[in-house]
Amino acid sequence: MTIFWFRRDLRLEDNAGLYYALKHHNDIQPIFIFDTNILDKLSDKDDARVTFLHDTIDTLKQSLQALGADLWVFYGDPKMVWTKLVSEHQIQNLYFNHDFESYATARDTVIKELLQSHKINVKSFKDHIIFEKSEVVKDDGLPYTVFTPYKRKWFAKLLSKTSTAKDSYYFKSYPTANYYSSFAAQSSISPMISLAEMGFEKNKATFPSSIVMQSLIKAYDDNRNFPSIDGTSRLGLHFRFGTISIRQKAVLASQLNDTFLNELIWRDFYSQILYHFPHVEKGSFRPEYDNILWRNDEADFDAWCQGKTGYPIVDAGMRELLATGHMHNRVRMITASFLTKHLLIDWRWGEAWFARQLLDFDLASNNGGWQWAAGCGTDAAPYFRIFSPDAQTEKFDKQKSYIRRWIPEYGTNNYPAPIVDHKIARERCLATYKAGLNK
Ligand code: FAD
Repeated sequence: MTIFWFRRDLRLEDNAGLYYALKHHNDIQPIFIFDTNILDKLSDKDDARVTFLHDTIDTLKQSLQALGADLWVFYGDPKMVWTKLVSEHQIQNLYFNHDFESYATARDTVIKELLQSHKINVKSFKDHIIFEKSEVVKDDGLPYTVFTPYKRKWFAKLLSKTSTAKDSYYFKSYPTANYYSSFAAQSSISPMISLAEMGFEKNKATFPSSIVMQSLIKAYDDNRNFPSIDGTSRLGLHFRFGTISIRQKAVLASQLNDTFLNELIWRDFYSQILYHFPHVEKGSFRPEYDNILWRNDEADFDAWCQGKTGYPIVDAGMRELLATGHMHNRVRMITASFLTKHLLIDWRWGEAWFARQLLDFDLASNNGGWQWAAGCGTDAAPYFRIFSPDAQTEKFDKQKSYIRRWIPEYGTNNYPAPIVDHKIARERCLATYKAGLNK
């Protein structure tokens, strides 16, 4: 038996690891593990991402059953699940796709060792990004830490075997459907654990569609910076869980809109930063920024989380996040800057709040975005460039449509006064950063 282990690649179509498993073997048994090491850490029992994951696994199981196969679904610590699996089945091979988050890397190392000790072959593949690990590095082999030269090299690699992006070898899809007959046939259906059995409740959120109108992508440049317009794809959640293929979307982007493709390259960029500089998960990319003496005022943090800072563009964003699990990119930048610079709260607090709330939470991109905003990351703007919430509103929400959408009491006495004065906060930030960096 050959096992294919689904993780952050929850689709049958254009799935690299699944393709190779199906192509080279003929008794493929797909599995998924609801990992208690991850689930037990989630604070909210109605976490929308768990509902999305559960729905997705259910759909995947049904799709496999329609093919005469089945998805075996487990719940527990992957090491225990695998120990039981190898003791109960004759397994010759394991196939899966890469995941570079530190927990995933450590877990995969343990599983690999366990399986190899049972003489089981383990093969893993790139699937959720276009270029991984050291595929795009400087000529001297060192990783890029600045986006623009990284992007240049990214394109050079993309076009190294073809002249047009759309025909690039690296955008080629994996036609899994040609080999569906390689799935192990199943006459009976294995059980599927319910959300309640895992200690979770169903969240009634409506999830963004995985289908994006071509007109939206074509108009992306014009609309993407204005939070009152639905001008971005909302595909983040689907990229996170692999319910869509990055290659298919990148091909589309290369044909329709360079700026949209650019954003997908940022995703690769932050992924390789996490891979080459794993210390960013806990500390600043630039270690000298770890000397900043954050104020970490809990009341200020709470006001920020709840969207009650008295800065309308910040509050609108934080309320959009609470209500929908999404926040517009422009507003992510403004709210993150406000927390770290105006309130002088450690970026890791904000990063953790976003990680808890965002449907599209992805460690590499979230960490990259937060470190960028705090000034301590790769490609970060110098710390003395501090976003003015009012100037940002003037530029990107001039009519205040976004603000009014999320703050019904805006303009009335019920709306809170600013918790901090912009000018004073700005000076306090400059002094604190300067003192920290000169330590
Ligand atoms: P679109 O504008 O339609 O872009 C398409 C896709 O490109 C996105 O879905 C995403 O996969 C990718 N992308 C776009 N912008 C970026 C970027 N700056 N960096 C990396 N990838 C990008 N993105 C996440 O996917 N997960 C996160 O947890 C996350 N946290 C962030 C935290 C902060 C403080 C900041 C400033 C940005 C963060 N981003 C994160 C990046 C960006 O805000 C989101 O990817 C984007 O807003 C998602 O909306 P969309 O799918 O409509 O994006």
